[in-house]
Amino acid sequence: LTLPRDSSGLHVVHIAAEMAPIAKVGGLGDVVSGLSKALQQKGHLVEIILPKYDCMDHGRIRDLKVLDETVESYFEGKLFRNKIWVGTVEGLPVYFIEPLHPAKYFSRGKFYGDGDDFRRYMYFSRAALELLLESKKRPDIIHCHDWQTAFIAPLYWDIFSNRGLNSARICFTCHNFEHQGAAPAHDLAPSGLDVEHLDRPDRLQDDSSHGRINVVKGAIVYSNIVTTVSPTYAQEVRSPQGGRGLHNALKTHSRKFFGVLNGIDTDTWNPSTDNFIEAQYCYDDLQGKLINKDYIRKHLGLSTSDLSQPLVGCITRLVPQKGVHLIRHALYKTLELGGQFILLGSSPVPHIQHEFESIAETFKSHADIRLILKYDDVFSHLIYAASDMFIIPSIFEPCGLTQMIAMRYGSIPIARKTGGLNDSVFDLDDNSVPLESRNGFTFFNADEQSLSGAIERAFNYYKQKPEVWQELTRRAMNMDFSWESSASQYEELYQKSVARARSFAQS
Ligand code: ADP
Repeated sequence: LTLPRDSSGLHVVHIAAEMAPIAKVGGLGDVVSGLSKALQQKGHLVEIILPKYDCMDHGRIRDLKVLDETVESYFEGKLFRNKIWVGTVEGLPVYFIEPLHPAKYFSRGKFYGDGDDFRRYMYFSRAALELLLESKKRPDIIHCHDWQTAFIAPLYWDIFSNRGLNSARICFTCHNFEHQGAAPAHDLAPSGLDVEHLDRPDRLQDDSSHGRINVVKGAIVYSNIVTTVSPTYAQEVRSPQGGRGLHNALKTHSRKFFGVLNGIDTDTWNPSTDNFIEAQYCYDDLQGKLINKDYIRKHLGLSTSDLSQPLVGCITRLVPQKGVHLIRHALYKTLELGGQFILLGSSPVPHIQHEFESIAETFKSHADIRLILKYDDVFSHLIYAASDMFIIPSIFEPCGLTQMIAMRYGSIPIARKTGGLNDSVFDLDDNSVPLESRNGFTFFNADEQSLSGAIERAFNYYKQKPEVWQELTRRAMNMDFSWESSASQYEELYQKSVARARSFAQS
């Protein structure tokens, strides 16, 4: 599986819980594959290590095979064998770890949500490092993501670097500081890490509750590079509220902390080649967009009498972060203004799921509203392609990908100015921003009135000034949200860190 790399290229290994399109819950999965592809194109050797989930989309893995050798990894005072599978996903070499552990950690029919997630991913993090050690891979960069693989940073420096896996610098990306992997300190012990040594304020001890450790804090302390997914979010998390208690750790380690805006995978999300949509189109011929709009309306049983009736889309996890009450408000506001609304979303929070199920029921035969309460990647493409506007009223948003995808499909975002939305959506009426950057509608306050104002302005332009709308659509479609520039920023961070390590080694 090892691919050639440019002589100056780096060997980068991503260790993660998700990878699009085979094991994706949210943006993390998109980032792992999008960034990896872009780095590979730049001549680096990029490999990925994932759990072997029973529920991943096996059909999109090429040449999947199991290796003859198993890899042993330590857990809870014992050694467990792991089957190692290899395959290719979107041209990227991927290693899958299947633990031969009685708890069947990744054979649960779902990615997350069992009570033992902390243990499962602690096990996986350690096994991934055992795999690197045993296979004699000596990467320049090990890039871990979110709390699930935050364990890697202390495991690497406290255990593995002493066992000969010592070529790498550790990069940790936090995609959302809401999830930190905090647990009672003794829960860390099965990994083999020395709990007493780590349960200290300057190491893994949770800053908000003593007696608990926090693995995201551990990754901030122990990694060489720490990033989050947009410059604005990188600022927001330095405050107590934004950082969810990690603001002090981030301030202490601010010299290695950076905000790099995510890109999107422009091959996957491309209206001119997308096979999941009814008609392909591009910015200088939007006819296909109308065909998609007509198709989806018929498909969902919505009124098709007026093709110019604005169609508003929303694709999201229905969790408080996403401004669930504002999403609900947007639906009623759209109705009031004479538009149509399609929501594709699902919720891990039972009371939110129930609430939206009851709204879905109310509108199940309505001419202008449809709620589809599930995760459906293929259908999401059609909604991006068919909609004229796209709602993202997040309370906080580390980066957000849906605004970028929507723009690429000519669906104009109506977004709250927070986190990555603030770095990628610029209001059509904001004279402080150059006209060529204005690509949507934004609002500041997380309340219904502010959101209504932005929706009303969007509807006014759409209905009263179609030529301005067309221009806006073309501009949004032409925005560059590819990984090219973000991957260059990661490349620079990696290279500087590797160079620093080499200069230490020589001095
Ligand atoms: P987050 O990672 O917080 O969920 P992002 O905006 O970063 O939010 O990424 C969301 C990704 O998940 C996008 O690619 C979006 O299209 C996709 N997505 C979210 N909900 C659904 C759903 N119900 N069906 C299909 N795709 C979804």
